[in-house]
Amino acid sequence: MTKQYEGKAKVIFSTDDPMVLLTYFKDDATAYNAMKRGNIPGKGEMNCTISSHLFQYLQLNGIANHFIAQPSKREMRVQALRILPLEVVVRNIAAGSLCSQTGIEPGTNLPYPLVEFYYKRDDLGDPLLTLDRLQLLNLATSEQVNYLKSNALHINQLLGDFFGSCGLTLVDFKLEFGLNHEQQLLLGDEISPDTCRLWDQGETDADKRILDKDRFRKDLGSVLEAYEEVLTRVKTQCLRLLPVQSQSDITSG
Ligand code: UDP
Repeated sequence: MTKQYEGKAKVIFSTDDPMVLLTYFKDDATAYNAMKRGNIPGKGEMNCTISSHLFQYLQLNGIANHFIAQPSKREMRVQALRILPLEVVVRNIAAGSLCSQTGIEPGTNLPYPLVEFYYKRDDLGDPLLTLDRLQLLNLATSEQVNYLKSNALHINQLLGDFFGSCGLTLVDFKLEFGLNHEQQLLLGDEISPDTCRLWDQGETDADKRILDKDRFRKDLGSVLEAYEEVLTRVKTQCLRLLPVQSQSDITSG
């Protein structure tokens, strides 16, 4: 296998099939545009397994995505995609940059889910895009933008229901999409506590309820324990929802 690309949290390898890639999940963690760096032993396994379960759940519910199988605890076989340089963020509750950029009080329930597009450019600090800028930069066609928005809202509905039944509140999350060899636009990347804000519904304390990367961003400690808690709940819910055949595509890890 040849290394194709190494990002902040994952390494992508080519396989003998040009339409299939192997994603390896690392333990490295970054935040604030990589100004803060760390290593959380075991995080890669958690994120790979949580993502694999969630991609399977979404496929079963009609959301096309790149997941093929999880051959080991840290590896995911995926369809090769040409990833659009966009981060599609959906927010249900105000947190993070929405609060720092608008003054909305953290924890405010939004009247409707907000879909935002950010330009995936580390050198520019991943700026928020307007629809006009998206068009100006030719980042996506207007048809693709409409599809991305409606698909992101559908995913928000499905993930919100799923996490809700795990006793978790889906505060916000980031998605990435790309084109496969048939020019089909598919959901890619990962869905994990690195890319979602998740709050424990059984906990009222504003810090203790956090079960996602904000524990690392804010130096709250017990990062791996939080990810393990999410994995346990996601696995339990998937055992109830996924058919036995799908479960065999995910490692027992
Ligand atoms: N997010 C991500 N990668 C990024 C930026 C954001 O996965 O490069 C996720 C983040 O974990 C959160 C959501 O997208 O769940 C919204 O993040 P926000 O814009 O508030 O940025 P932050 O303040 O977290 O950097």
